[in-house]
Amino acid sequence: PAQAAANIGVVGLAVMGSNLARNLASREGNTVAIYNRTPAKTEELVGAHPEAGFVSTATYEEFAASLVKPRAAIIMVKAGAGTDAVIDALVNVFEPGDIIVDGGNALFTDTIRREKAVRATGINYVGMGVSGGEEGALLGPSIMPGGSDESWVTLGPILKSIAAVAEGEPCVTHVGHDGAGHFVKMVHNGIEYADMQLIAEAYDLIRRGTGRTPAEIAEVFAEWNRGELESYLIEITAEVLRQVDASTGTPLVDIILDQAGAKGTGAWTVQTALDLGVPVSGIAEATFARSLSSHPEQRSVSRDLPGPQDDLTVDDVDAFIEDVRLALFASKIVAYSQGFDEIRAGAAQYGWSIDLGAVSKIWRGGCIIRAQFLNRIADAYAETPDLPVLLTAPYFVEALGRAQDAWRRIVSTAATAGLPSPAFSSSLAYYDGLRADRLPAALIQGQRDFFGAHTYKRIDKEGTFHTLWSGDR
Ligand code: NAP
Repeated sequence: PAQAAANIGVVGLAVMGSNLARNLASREGNTVAIYNRTPAKTEELVGAHPEAGFVSTATYEEFAASLVKPRAAIIMVKAGAGTDAVIDALVNVFEPGDIIVDGGNALFTDTIRREKAVRATGINYVGMGVSGGEEGALLGPSIMPGGSDESWVTLGPILKSIAAVAEGEPCVTHVGHDGAGHFVKMVHNGIEYADMQLIAEAYDLIRRGTGRTPAEIAEVFAEWNRGELESYLIEITAEVLRQVDASTGTPLVDIILDQAGAKGTGAWTVQTALDLGVPVSGIAEATFARSLSSHPEQRSVSRDLPGPQDDLTVDDVDAFIEDVRLALFASKIVAYSQGFDEIRAGAAQYGWSIDLGAVSKIWRGGCIIRAQFLNRIADAYAETPDLPVLLTAPYFVEALGRAQDAWRRIVSTAATAGLPSPAFSSSLAYYDGLRADRLPAALIQGQRDFFGAHTYKRIDKEGTFHTLWSGDR
């Protein structure tokens, strides 16, 4: 029987699990037990990385026996049925007080269900969001664990040892109980969708408005990356635009089929927001824009729909590009504000105590939306922890004040020229909706009361009212 020598285990040795196991093994103080359903992969990893000192195991019994108590194991397998199968196997060989961590991309409601079931056995269950892809898993991801306080005592130091580091702080925090970690990871991905769509709209407007080449626009993004938009996504956008296709000599972005894929976390964010009644319109538009792009049969029959007479012509190119930058910045503020609103609402609904400032800080490194900007969000919540609308914090109010004229010009220019800018324009509509003194929701209430006697409230007295509307009803 194996000696209990490992302080952490990893189950599932595809790309994410292998990289996470190597990351764990590379940190002082960690000894890592590994297990994979197909044992050949375990042997392969051990053979390729003798320096890691892995404790290789071929059965779940061996795996459990190799871990010091309380045992802690991170599952990195295909989300869904694979995760359930591994949980069942681990519950059989683990004991009360041990910790099972799911590091895959689980839907938070599945995590809530699994946590409840596993907790009934006395074993701790932690749903843990991991962002940063393969490279992050190996070199330092942003980590969003949920689960019990007890499990955090054991996991905290281990996770801090492998997380990305931003401004001296590890990008991991105990987000909240049961499904809180996976919820926050889901919203992270939703914000990522919005951020990417906004960048794509900015690129498209500059390209069509100024006729600049992708390589020239890459320089614009590289320049933006030195200012308040500084972020990983802006940085890689410059790289993508610079890339030339080797076989044709054409900018690669012009060779790539314009149909965006998705693995579902954006849709989850939007579905959850609809259930919570939170208007994450920027994330929704970004998700729908991907859907629209990937319906070639609809796009091909729609090409001849009437559009405006004139193409977009821009006189002052530099001023236009600066307007686009400001529109992007303002829309980005809206997208993050909406995303944090969803986390706030999710925490209230599911009884999690989530420190929104701490969440923004662990996104500063390792993950796809990492950016300087997240410091401003942390500042906002440090000043007012229960801030109801993130974009009303002083820094954002100043930025939006600076950007709004440009933002309006860009949205109207895009509409006039017939260029789709769903995320720019819906973000502006959300902003103006928030600002409005009175909304036409009063008329909606009138209509609802008219056809369905749904009643309404009045501005001048308490109570619920119904009008006997005229007409044959
Ligand atoms: P994957 O392709 O999603 O899954 C393959 C792994 O799952 C293999 O180790 C496979 O074992 C195992 N597996 C599948 N069904 C199983 C079952 N019924 N019982 C036991 N093991 C089973 O792997 P991945 O791309 O490394 O991703 C792992 C997780 O991380 C996923 O949840 C993914 O969503 C999440 N994630 C991925 C990324 C990324 O960039 N790829 C980023 C963040 C999070 P066998 O070798 O025996 O087939």
